[in-house]
Amino acid sequence: MTTCTGTCVDVQGGKEETNDEEPSTSVTKNLKEAVKRKYDEDYIKHGFSWCGDETAPRPQCIICGDQLSNESMVPSKLKRYLYSSHPSCANKDKQYFKSA
Ligand SMILES: [Zn+2]
Repeated sequence: MTTCTGTCVDVQGGKEETNDEEPSTSVTKNLKEAVKRKYDEDYIKHGFSWCGDETAPRPQCIICGDQLSNESMVPSKLKRYLYSSHPSCANKDKQYFKSA
């Protein structure tokens, strides 16, 4: 039928540059928007409640009412705050803070 009688295999020879998967550089970089951190009930044990916007809550110190930024909504930072600002409360458990 056609001219493909065995020689057509040669066509594959020179064209191997079909590997254009999209270079995912610019796309992924733009995704680095600030992530909003959510309050976790567990943070109460670090002496923190929250206030402000539910989509970007801000940790609020139960002891003195201080408000931290949403970026500080991580256990390590809450803990550090508690230890440095209220060392006397650092060893209290969550029951203490819940009733505070
Ligand atoms: Zn405080």
